[in-house]
Amino acid sequence: MATIDVETVGTTRSQIFKKIIQLTLIFLAVFSVSCLISFAGGRYRLSKQNPKQQVTVTEEAPAPTEEGEQPAASQPYDPEKVIYLTFDDGPWKYTEQLLDLLKKYDAKVTFFTTSTYPEYAELMKREDEEGHTVAVHSYSHDYKKIYASSSAYWSDFEAQQKVIEEQTGKKTTIFRFPGGSSNGVSNFNPGIMTTLSQQAKAKGLSYFDWNVASADAGATTEADVVLQNCKTGVQNIKDPVILCHDVKDYTVKAMETFIPWAIENGYTFLPLTPDSPNAHHKVNN
Ligand SMILES: [Zn+2]
Repeated sequence: MATIDVETVGTTRSQIFKKIIQLTLIFLAVFSVSCLISFAGGRYRLSKQNPKQQVTVTEEAPAPTEEGEQPAASQPYDPEKVIYLTFDDGPWKYTEQLLDLLKKYDAKVTFFTTSTYPEYAELMKREDEEGHTVAVHSYSHDYKKIYASSSAYWSDFEAQQKVIEEQTGKKTTIFRFPGGSSNGVSNFNPGIMTTLSQQAKAKGLSYFDWNVASADAGATTEADVVLQNCKTGVQNIKDPVILCHDVKDYTVKAMETFIPWAIENGYTFLPLTPDSPNAHHKVNN
């Protein structure tokens, strides 16, 4: 009898234990479902009451501009902290290294191209494919030749436009005058820059100067100086359009530090479009 009693008690305990486990599992299941319903309901009410607030919560939608246009960048960015990096006179032997760097940081820039080194022309195709703006600088970059007359200028322009079209399959409406619109190198032909800047407008073309000089066109050959000029410029100038040259190894070296520094500090690199700030200089000739 004593043996039977022990077995009976053991069986009862085991059944109670099973019941407790079952009840606990049921309670956990009910609790989880009610939590899910409550969370989903909250999200639904949030989106119904204040759609903008939901955008803030998800932080996935790019910030709309004042006009309601979608920005060009694939990620949200601060429109107050955009940098327009521009590289003149290439492509050349340092351009590929620069393109690799830009790709690494998803930075988009503008190349004002020449045909000084025609064996590197194919890099324009890569520039275009990777989201940069490929624009006209000059076919010959020969000041005496291009500023001799307006017809000489536009024939040089069209020659470079043709190279760009061959490489990218499209024409550009963006260009930069060799020496900038304020240049003094054209003084041998009085009034030529005034004429050319007016003709550009009539042709539906947009020329761009710059408001930050990296000083890599002769004032320095030091990467650290180029870097410092870029850092100072973007902190002091609104809508900075930075003049650089991808035919200078020290400029590409400076970019290795400048680009990650700018991104860490909340800046975004965008390519120029016809609507971008043009940083026009005063035409002096
Ligand atoms: Zn140039």
